[in-house]
Formats: sequence, structure tokens, C-alpha cells
Amino acid sequence: MSKLTLKDLDLQGKCVLVRVDFNVPLQLCEETNRYEIVDDTRILSALPTIEKIMGADGKAILISHLGRPKGQPNQNFSLAPVSDRLTELLDTSVRFSSETIGSVVEKTVRTMPNGSVILLENTRYFPGETTNDPAFAEELAKLGDLFVNDAFGTAHRAHASNVGVAAHFSKPAAGCLLEKELIQLGHALQSPTPPNVALLGGAKVSDKMGVITNLMGIMDHILIGGAMAYTFLKAKGIPVGNSLVEEDRLDDAREMMEHAGDKLFLPSDHIVSTSFDAPDAINNPVSGAIEDGLMGLDIGPNTIKEYTDLILSARTSIWNGPMGVFEKPAFARGTKAMAQAMASATNLGATTIIGGGDSVAAITQANLHENVTHVSTGGGAMLKFLEGKSLPGLEALADHP
Ligand code: AMP
Repeated sequence: MSKLTLKDLDLQGKCVLVRVDFNVPLQLCEETNRYEIVDDTRILSALPTIEKIMGADGKAILISHLGRPKGQPNQNFSLAPVSDRLTELLDTSVRFSSETIGSVVEKTVRTMPNGSVILLENTRYFPGETTNDPAFAEELAKLGDLFVNDAFGTAHRAHASNVGVAAHFSKPAAGCLLEKELIQLGHALQSPTPPNVALLGGAKVSDKMGVITNLMGIMDHILIGGAMAYTFLKAKGIPVGNSLVEEDRLDDAREMMEHAGDKLFLPSDHIVSTSFDAPDAINNPVSGAIEDGLMGLDIGPNTIKEYTDLILSARTSIWNGPMGVFEKPAFARGTKAMAQAMASATNLGATTIIGGGDSVAAITQANLHENVTHVSTGGGAMLKFLEGKSLPGLEALADHP
């Protein structure tokens, strides 16, 4: 771990400004007319850092974005419900400040007792957040003696609350969650125990082109599923019917397959239907060519078996992206089987890393969250990391001397 972490900071009596990722899904409750948190995973993930600061008698000043309020105050994107949930989880009263910057909040954080926690209102109420405005970053920096970034999910963006603000501190450091992400993902990229497998799915080849190219030089096997498989199959000259294809990426796909050689695996059979709505989902899987009028919407049983065997024999596996339209039960079998394969491989001693909203949802739905090595909290950030690109949120943190 090359970056400074919480362990390198003297927290006692200090105002510790912490960039967390509390971008949680909210739902308006009709009865109470208040927003309720639908999934608190991101809040739970931030607890170790907050508890460490409290335990060291520091003051935790939490900042985060939530949704896209487009640079102005909007009650639909308020972080207030998060402070209620934090109060329950930490078993201590967490203050909420409806102001994010300014003299009032500066005074509040300076006078609050050591060991206490305050959550400030959504940083995206300010246009300067997403433009990384130096003046907004400076205002945020006035709230802390120390700065800690624990928001891996936004590390691929250069915003004021994770990048601009860090420049005002001599030792901007990684929080516990960020540290865990860097250790796990770093291990998978730098020294994955062979044999190793990358399982990539989802809608678009274009989103994962850089990842496939980078992983080709690192991993032994790259297994492709989801809609993006059809761009590769078409590029190979295999008829794919009406399956989703990125026509403008066929040449790229061809080039990638030439480079990858027998490292790259494509589905050999498919669950097909005439539409996503699947009133007539055909349960007989199709091997090879898909005829016109039908689209491939999930990987078939032979592919499930082949991919499962490779994952079970691997010592390191990384997975990002669903194998099919897993939101519909008729096309969820492939994704569920991969979730199960990842959990079984972990049980056999492999290191398994899962990221991306849909793959994480599949692991969670199957109740296998605890049965894999690491579930990443970053979708876009994880992909950028796997591409081998530098992440501005990480670059902004201090290196170990
Ligand atoms: P991504 O955001 O790129 O990870 O893509 C996720 C989306 O890809 C999900 O909403 C899936 O329903 C969709 N998807 C996966 N496989 C297919 C497929 N074979 N055809 C159409 N959409 C798919």
C-alpha cells in the first residue's frame, strides 16, 4: 500500500474531514412523506473509518454527494436521512448540518466534542463540486485539520470534495474502505495467483474495451458474457440474429480477438427470445448461430458449465458485468450461476473480486455477499482501475515517504 492511510495520522482532538460515499438509493415513503434509504450498504462500508476516528478521540466531519441535484439545493437529494441511519448504526447521536460550508458550520465543527460525528449537506448542491472549483475546495478544507478520502466509488472523478480539497492538506490519506479496495484490486492486478480468470459481461463492449485490453496482458482467461459477447461473435462471422451489437466496434473486437488468441472465451450457446419482455422466452438453448428475429439474452447451459469449470480451477477471479438480462428471471440463470461459481471458488481457497452494480446485485440477491473475497464499492472506479489507468481521487492522496 503506497498511500498514507488512517494509521499514519494522529487523530486525537483533530477535525478529520472525511469524503465518504453516501450516494445511497432513496425512496419517498407515501405515509410519512419522507425519504427512506433503500439500501444502506454504502453507509455500512464507511463505518470502520468513522469508528476509528471516534475511537481515537477525533471529530469526524463527513462530506458526500448524493444523486445529481445539478449544483443547487434540492430537498429530494438531501443527506438528512443518512444521518438518522448513522445515528442508529453508530449508537450515538450524529449531527446533521444543512449547510456544507461557511462560518456557521466552521464554528460548529470546531466546538463539537472529541469523539463526535457530523454529516454535512450534499456537496453537489454547489456547482463548484463537479467542476473542482478551487474556491469551493478551499471552503471545504477550512473544516478539517486532516483529510481522509474513503469514497472509492468516486475516485475516478476529479471533484472538489475528493481532489481539490486534498491539495490543502500535507497528509491527505486513504480511509479503511479505500485502503481495502486498493489492497484487493491491487493484488488482483499486480500479482494474481495463477491460473486466473476475468469474467466480463454487461451491455457494451465500448465500456470495457480498455479493461479487456489491459487484462489480456495479466490474466490467463478472459470470459465474455452479456450483450457484449454478440459484438465479438458477429465480428467472428457468427450470425447473432437481432442480438444487441455495437456495429462501430466490430473492427476493434476483431483486433482484440487476434491479440487475445485462445485467452478469450465467448459463449457457445444462448438463451434466446424475440424480445426482452420474454412472453415467448425459448427455453431450448441455441448453440452457435442465432436466427433472425431472435436475440441472445443469456448464456446457455454449455457456456455456464465451461465458465464455471474455469472459475473453479482458478486461484484468482475478477468479475464485472452480468451474463444476461438478469433483471428478468427468464434470463437470470447465467448470472446467478456465475455468482454461485465465484462463491464456490472462494470456498476452495481462491481470491474472488466482484464489482459493478449488477454483478454485486446478483451476489447480494443470491445471499453470497459474505462468500466471496471482496465486493468492490466502485463500478466505474473499478473499471478504470482494471484498465490500469490512474484515478484522480487516489493520485491526490499522499504517498508513504
Ligand atoms: P453494464 O451497465 O454495461 O454492466 O450492462 C448491464 C446491463 O446489460 C443490464 O441492464 C443487462 O440487462 C444488460 N444485458 C446483459 N446481457 C444482455 C443481453 N444479452 N442483451 C441485452 N442486454 C443485456
